[in-house]
Order: sequence, then structure tokens, then C-alpha cells
Amino acid sequence: MARILDGKATAAEIKAEVAAGIEELEAAGRSVRLDVVLVGDDPASATYVGGKEADASQVGMASRVHRFPAGVTQQRLTDLVDELNHDPAVSGFIVQLPLPEGLDPLPLISRIRPEKDVDGLNPESAGRLSMGLPSLMPCTPHGIIQLLRRHDLPLEGREAVVLGRSNLVGKPMAQLLLRENATVTVCHSRTRGLAEVASRADILIVASGQREMVGAEHVKEGAVVVDVGIHRKQEGGLAGDVRFDEVEPKASAITPVPGGVGPMTRAMLLHNALQAARATLA
Ligand code: NDP
Repeated sequence: MARILDGKATAAEIKAEVAAGIEELEAAGRSVRLDVVLVGDDPASATYVGGKEADASQVGMASRVHRFPAGVTQQRLTDLVDELNHDPAVSGFIVQLPLPEGLDPLPLISRIRPEKDVDGLNPESAGRLSMGLPSLMPCTPHGIIQLLRRHDLPLEGREAVVLGRSNLVGKPMAQLLLRENATVTVCHSRTRGLAEVASRADILIVASGQREMVGAEHVKEGAVVVDVGIHRKQEGGLAGDVRFDEVEPKASAITPVPGGVGPMTRAMLLHNALQAARATLA
């Protein structure tokens, strides 16, 4: 039986720490505010943004959502990014992705001041991360590191395999694992002999975006398995990128879906907003 890595409970710990940090700043006469730019009417994005507002209010953090119709111009969004960059009341902000067709996210994300880039996704933040310099870190991989650390799962010297190389998850995950002194292999859709490579891992992070593609054949006996995937099942509920029932008996520890990586991602956004607010005080 694998140990279940409870992201919900660990996220609750982090949220409590953030709430205490906010109180401290407020006692010093400062507040923390997280803003979100939401464009169009994608229902998944609306749900995620609603979740972010609820999370912020739960820890006593102010938040504001800037809503625009899908037809908004790139220039209007550029102007808003500039406004938020310069507004001292805004500790940090994100542009909720994906943007509707016709809008280009990269120039917007690149324009966010790194000190306010609480998603940690702009090229400067990514560059700083890869150089080992201080930066706000992308929420999902940072949340995974926190989840492993807080379950006392060592990374140093371990074989870590990351399945996926997106800018959002796979690449920053690999950077953070390197920073923890793991030996890191990154796999992707052109990797040959995926099951053989994956089954070398002491720590296997799966972020392929392919529902339940990872099975027992990809997993070494005793490995720690982290499932980043989120897929809505037609019959209701969520599935991950890992076939949980098949992998769990082989793993020593595994994240569930839901209740694993998802809550950690959300908690780390709050953590980043607090960190951004502290940095602007310094
Ligand atoms: P992307 O689709 O951007 O990236 C998927 C990566 O997996 C790519 O690098 C791709 O390779 C690789 N890949 C796809 N199919 C295969 C395959 N058959 N074999 C090997 N590699 C493969 O996804 P994201 O990184 O954005 O997200 C990954 C998953 O995590 C999704 O399910 C997403 O919903 C979820 N997610 C969950 C979060 C959470 O908080 N829990 C947060 C963010 C994402 P290539 O580069 O060659 O195309």
C-alpha cells in the first residue's frame, strides 16, 4: 500500500502560514492584493478564477478580477498590465490562460514585472529559475516540491523523471528538482522507450496531459509517483495522467486526483502573492 500524499492537508498548512503572514503585514499597516485578468467566457477558466478568489478570501487576502469580453484588444490588455505593474496596491497578478483566439499571451506575460509575476511564468522569471537566482516560482512545480518536502521524501541524489516538457509544468519542474540535487531526466512525446526510462525513476512526475497514460509498466517498485494531470470525466469527477489503481500497489507514495497536486498549485499562488507583497516592502 502506497502512502497517499495528501495535497489538501498540506495545502491547508501552507494557507495557514500565508494567513499568518498576511496578519503580520497588516499589523505593519500593509495589505496583500492578488489581481486576476480574465478574458472571455471559457467555463474552466471562470471556475479556476472563482477558486482563486475563494482561496484569497479564505486567507484574508484581497483580490480583484478584471473581466473582459473575448473581443477585447491586445492593446487594452497591454495597458492593463502596465497599470497593474505600477499600482502599489497590487502585490501580484496573473493573466488567466488560455486567452481566446486572436490574443497573444506571451507579450502580456513577458510584460509583467518579475516582482509581481505570481504565476512565475514570464521569461525573466523562468531564466532566473534556471540560473538558480531568486524569483517567484511557478505554482505547480513549486507546490510539488513542497508536497514532497513536507512528507519528508528526500530528493538529493535520487533519480527523478519528469514526463512532460511544457513551460508551465515540465521544464520548471526539472529546474526545481535539479535545485534539490536530484538527477533529472525529462521525457516527452518523442522519447523512445518511455516505459523503460520512466521506470528508472525513484521520483516520477507525470505531466503529459494524457488521461491515465501511465501504468504499472512505467513505474519502478517503491517509486514516488506524482500525478499532475487533471481530466474531467464524462461520468463526473476527475481523472489524472496516471492509472491510480494499477500504479498505487507498486508505488511507495502517490498523489491522488483530485486532492493531490491541484490544491498545492492553488496554495502556492497565495504563497507567491504574499512573497511578492513582502518583496515590495523590502
Ligand atoms: P502540455 O500539453 O502543455 O504538455 C504535455 C507534455 O507531455 C508535452 O511536453 C508533451 O510532449 C508530453 N507528452 C504528451 N503526450 C505524451 C506521450 N504520449 N508520451 C510522452 N510525453 C507526452 O500540458 P501541461 O504541462 O500544461 O499540463 C500537463 C497536465 O497537467 C494536464 O493534464 C493539465 O491539465 C495538468 N495541469 C494540472 C495542474 C494542477 O494544478 N494539478 C496545473 C497545470 C496543469 P511534447 O512536448 O513532445 O509535445
